[in-house]
Parts: sequence; structure tokens; C-alpha cells
Amino acid sequence: MKKHLPAVLFLLAAALLWWLSLSPRRHQVPVAEGEKVRVVVSGYVPYTLVKQLAGDQAEVAMLLPANAEPHSFEPTPGSLVTVRNADVFVYVSDQIEPWAKDVLSSAGEKTAVVQAAQYAAPSDDPHVWMDFDNTQKIARAIVFALVQKDPSNRALYESNLKAFEQEISELDQAYKKGLASCQSRQVVHVGHFAFGNLTKNYDLSLSALAGSSHDGENSVKRLTELIKFIKENQIQAIFTEETLSPRLSAAVAEETGAKVLPLYTVEHVSKDDFDRGVTYGELMRRNLESLQRGLGCPA
Ligand SMILES: [Zn+2]
Repeated sequence: MKKHLPAVLFLLAAALLWWLSLSPRRHQVPVAEGEKVRVVVSGYVPYTLVKQLAGDQAEVAMLLPANAEPHSFEPTPGSLVTVRNADVFVYVSDQIEPWAKDVLSSAGEKTAVVQAAQYAAPSDDPHVWMDFDNTQKIARAIVFALVQKDPSNRALYESNLKAFEQEISELDQAYKKGLASCQSRQVVHVGHFAFGNLTKNYDLSLSALAGSSHDGENSVKRLTELIKFIKENQIQAIFTEETLSPRLSAAVAEETGAKVLPLYTVEHVSKDDFDRGVTYGELMRRNLESLQRGLGCPA
């Protein structure tokens, strides 16, 4: 038995190292009793989810200004300090926020990091929250981080998660029912390619003016193609992002006779909506209403 001792110790040490690698210490330092969890988020998608899931138990700071465009934002030195002091940092992905890796490098030892896209199904469209299954998984990952940091409020976070999951499954049912029989299944979006996951899930087709990252595909050539497509397919309504200048969609509407309806990407919201604390569910219900009106689906 004795001669096996070094081997046993070696195995124990290896097991301990393996266990430590699975559970990094930085995720396991809870906040002091009675203190709020300091959550820093990249933009509005994680902001609204954390607000809804944490209620008053978290102080949430958002790096991106409410009505700024997430793909091309540049973080300030102040953002780096904010992230260094965070208990939890939530962002979507390097594709949606190419600036996140700079911010991440300044995250403190005790900062738990949630990268939302890690919990999403593989897709060509990085707007992963436009899929309700993904959003539920992201919500669970956020709650997992909140519970690690603030275990004394576990019951509250879990009950908020349950309510959120219920809201999302009702939304999914409303989309299935509301978009089941429409006169058209063609969504023409005079904006960037942010609704690929949503349209795919409910058997709609999507043509967008620009790519998924605002990367300069918003060309005159593409606009001409889109106008031709609208005319040829007798598209009755086009969609636009509320936070984009209305000039372009108005011009397309004038040229084609199509009416213009809003779609909400959730990644950036108007100042009014931000001040009101508009939720993910509210924005997705507005999207359903717009799609039903624009595609001629009975309400
Ligand atoms: Zn986008």
C-alpha cells in the first residue's frame, strides 16, 4: 500500500487541478451580504434581460449609449474601469460587439463573464437573441452567474427566470399562431440583416438592404435590386429599424408604393423606450404586430 502512496497523491493532485480548472475562482466570490450585484453589460440586449431577471438586486451599467449602434462602437477608458469593478460582465459576442475583447481584457479577477452567443445554436446570423430558444438559454446563463455572485437571493432569481421563460414560450406560441397563414411570407427589410433567425424560425423569407454587421453593403446597387424585387413580387409593406434615418425607407416606399412598418432589433432602442425600460418581450410583441400587418396575417 505504502509504495502506491506517491501515485495516489499524484492522482489526487491531478484531480484537484482538474476541479480547479472547471470552477475558476473568479466566478465564485460572492458579493457581501445585503450588497447589490454590480453587472456591466455591453448593450441593450443583455441590459434588458439582466434588468428583468435581477430586478432590484443588481446595479446595471450599460457600456453602449442607449441609441448607439453596437457594431461600430468604441469603448472609452471609462468603460474599462467600469468593467474592472464589475461582479458580472455580460455581452453578446465578438461578432456583434467587436470592441468587447478590448473591454474584456480589463475584466477583474472576480468578474464573472457571460458571453451570450456561447449558449446559442450555430447560425449565420449573429443576432442570436432573435431566436426564442437561444434567449431562454442566455437568460439561464445570466441567472447562473447572478446566483454564483449572490446566492442568498437564489429564490428570487429563479422565480424571475421562471416567469421570463413562461413569457418567452407564450411569445413563441403567439408567433406560431400569428404567422401561420399570411398573404405574403416575404419580409423586405430596409435595414441590416438582423432578423435572419426570427424569419427562419417562422418559415418567412428575409431580404435585407445591408449585411449583419453594417459593413458597407448598404450600396446603391443593393438598393436598386431591392426596389426591383419589391415591384416584381408586389410586396405591400417594407420594414425598417426605428433607430435608422427614415429617409431611405420613405424613398423606397415612394418608389414602390409599399407602406413602411417598424421592426425592433433590441440591440439599440430609442431614448423614449430606454427611459421607459422597454423589455425584450414588449419589443418582440411589437415585431409580431408589425409582421402580421405587413404580411397580411389575420390577427
Ligand atoms: Zn445588428
